[in-house]
Amino acid sequence: MESPGKLCSNCNKNIDTNSYELHLIHCQRNTVFCSICNEGVLKNYLSNHILENHTCPYCHIQLDTSLDNHECPRRIEVCIYCLNEFEHANLFDHQRNCVNRTTYCEICRQHILNHLWPNHLSSRTCQPPRLPFKTNEELRQEVLSFIRK
Ligand SMILES: [Zn+2]
Ligand SMILES: [Zn+2]
Ligand SMILES: [Zn+2]
Ligand SMILES: [Zn+2]
Ligand SMILES: [Zn+2]
Repeated sequence: MESPGKLCSNCNKNIDTNSYELHLIHCQRNTVFCSICNEGVLKNYLSNHILENHTCPYCHIQLDTSLDNHECPRRIEVCIYCLNEFEHANLFDHQRNCVNRTTYCEICRQHILNHLWPNHLSSRTCQPPRLPFKTNEELRQEVLSFIRK
């Protein structure tokens, strides 16, 4: 049977009652408090903690707040028109131009204005053209070869 355990007053983890005292001493000795968010973190985990919680993956700046509060100008966003990725700071300028450009659609073989792209593939205008896959002459040859057999 597992012992019910006790919440460590230092790290808030559930600790086996039998080893609680020992854990607490050990825990307090090894825990430091993050100067940014005040969370108790294991000493050797602190640099990881800062990397994961307070370092922007885009601009690689160590923040003095939590990552959620950082509106990174270099975060990567996807252009809704061409679906390419851009840094947030450049996206607006890009989209202003992108909206008036066209992209060739492989399916319907038309040049589609980028601002129509998001809906284009599901729209009725995007239909594969009915190409004559065989010319009449090719068809005639095919029929002839069939008859000759
Ligand atoms: Zn603890
Ligand atoms: Zn922190
Ligand atoms: Zn950033
Ligand atoms: Zn674009
Ligand atoms: Zn199309």
